Amino acid sequence: MTVFNCQQVLDKATFYLDNEVIEEEKVAIDSHLRECKACAEEYAVEARISSMIISSDWNPISTEDLVQQAMINYMQKRDID
Ligand SMILES: [Zn+2]
Repeated sequence: MTVFNCQQVLDKATFYLDNEVIEEEKVAIDSHLRECKACAEEYAVEARISSMIISSDWNPISTEDLVQQAMINYMQKRDID
């Protein structure tokens, strides 16, 4: 099983958000983000920058919600495009 450290996870951020990581990397990143708030926050920021999904009803409750919502919005936007 692949395990990434913080640096590796952050290096992969743009690829992950563009869906350009292999399944094994995605799983490793997902599990890291669940346990590492610092990286989860970085991903949330990256997702926001990548997709410009900020809106007036953006109201995250916690870091987990923030990153999860960012991912969901990003994926939905990609689907529409
Ligand atoms: Zn980390």
